[in-house]
Amino acid sequence: MKHIQLLAAMAATLFALPLVHAQQPGAEAVPAVPGLPPAARAAATSIDPEKIRAHVRFLSLDLLEGRGPGTRGAELAAEYIATQFALAGVAPAGDNGTYFQHVPLVAVHTNEDRTKFSLVPATGQPIDLAYGSEIVSKDQTGQAAADFDAPIVFVGYGIHAPEYHWDDYAGPDGKGVDLRGKVALVIVNEPPSDDPGFFKGRALTYYGRWTYKYEEAARRGAVGVLIIHRTDLASYGWEVVRNSQAIEKSYLEGDPDATLRAAAWIQHDVAQRLFTLAGLGNLDQAIQTAGKPGAFHAVELPVRLHAHIESRVRRYVSANVVGRVPGASAANQAVFYTAHYDHLGIDQNAKGDNIYNGAADNGTGCGILLEMARAFAQSPVRPPHAVYFASVTAEEQGLLGSQFLGMHPPVPAGQISLDLNYDMLLPIGVPRSVSLGGAERIDFWPTVQTVAKAFDLALLPDPTPSAGHYYRSDHFSLARVGIPAFSVDQGELFEGHDEAWGRAQFIDFVAHHYHQPSDEYRADWDFRGNAKLARFGFVLGWLASGQAKTAEWQAGDEFETARKASRP
Ligand SMILES: [Zn+2]
Repeated sequence: MKHIQLLAAMAATLFALPLVHAQQPGAEAVPAVPGLPPAARAAATSIDPEKIRAHVRFLSLDLLEGRGPGTRGAELAAEYIATQFALAGVAPAGDNGTYFQHVPLVAVHTNEDRTKFSLVPATGQPIDLAYGSEIVSKDQTGQAAADFDAPIVFVGYGIHAPEYHWDDYAGPDGKGVDLRGKVALVIVNEPPSDDPGFFKGRALTYYGRWTYKYEEAARRGAVGVLIIHRTDLASYGWEVVRNSQAIEKSYLEGDPDATLRAAAWIQHDVAQRLFTLAGLGNLDQAIQTAGKPGAFHAVELPVRLHAHIESRVRRYVSANVVGRVPGASAANQAVFYTAHYDHLGIDQNAKGDNIYNGAADNGTGCGILLEMARAFAQSPVRPPHAVYFASVTAEEQGLLGSQFLGMHPPVPAGQISLDLNYDMLLPIGVPRSVSLGGAERIDFWPTVQTVAKAFDLALLPDPTPSAGHYYRSDHFSLARVGIPAFSVDQGELFEGHDEAWGRAQFIDFVAHHYHQPSDEYRADWDFRGNAKLARFGFVLGWLASGQAKTAEWQAGDEFETARKASRP
């Protein structure tokens, strides 16, 4: 009786356990997939969750000091990754025959007490702006001080999107306004739409990201950009903008798209005051009009922005770690894998544990990348074309290492078929679903579907397309130079659990560990899922490598123009 009672009491646990064990062989095995040679399948099967664990454990030790770019800890991490490449037989593919591609960076911290902005109308009194509560700004040029006095041009959403016949930079005569040496005043986000054919409906395109607005205005020679913040449009409050600007921000040294003396946000009420000063009436009315096709043209205001900006500037160098496994064919075609190794370093001002270990973010992606690299290098058959593994730096500073990699790829971008990126895969069991945002836009998608099915992984749509997640991870840096790219991420369904359990794990992690010193290695982590997604990515990469031609964006995609431009 006791025995039976015990069984009844443990029913919930016992119900889960046999499921896990029954499915374990499935988790370990690599399914047969058309186009995958048996030897490659065996190489993928050799991917070992305990090796991934060892990498994650090492990279997240306190000894590595949170891997902040430009620090000793990040250098140790880079040396570790390079050493692991060497031990596995992965060839160097960085600068001068090394594994390291050096990335020059400049960190800028606005000196808030000494920086002054004012709005100067053609007639009447100037309005001084309070730094912090009304305006925040960064000088992207990395100079210690800057002064300018420049006319302000209202350019609506600041978007030029030929595919949607949209040009906010066209003046009343239909011609592009001259922005050289001027300040662009722009609305946050993109024209509202429910039509999938117009700025992808409710999904955010890159045109809606504030980074795009800075880049586009910089390309047109603007000296500054004022982004108008309105909480409902931004989906976050002014405090978020203010806090994110209150810290140091890094840029790539010499980035041709980061040349603004004032990359700034202004608070909604300040923008209204500016509108009133310029005789343009109601700001919210103007925002509404600017979102309607054909209703807006750029207009220069009779108001100038007067600026005195002082910055504390720190120049430093970090490195991407890049390795290569040669292909059977000498043809110049390649597949890339990426995973950032940097994290947030040490917070010198914090009390108690102040080391941001970044075990999940992104020790896990590095562990997966290293184990895939080992499996490729030690495969008894070579992949059809070359395969590159790049562990990139300065992701947390704004995807800077991957941006540099995209600008200076070891093979021309036009010959890179595909990039698969791995970032923060919680090692909490064997996933039954994957999220591959952006993969559906690539002509390789039917193969992705076949492989996911073979791995018993359900494909999940992006749960929040309006958040623009695609533009916030390293694969985007390669997509913007035309390379088909996406991240491999797990969904919420894990073997032996329901989705609610998975969701609860993620919510708990985000609330208590994400970007906090407590993102630390745990001995009870289960790396079988990381291994499964490494095998899944291995097979995807092998099949992409086996294609006669590179993968491509579907016709009309926002990255198609960049792809064409990457081919002389
Ligand atoms: Zn990350």
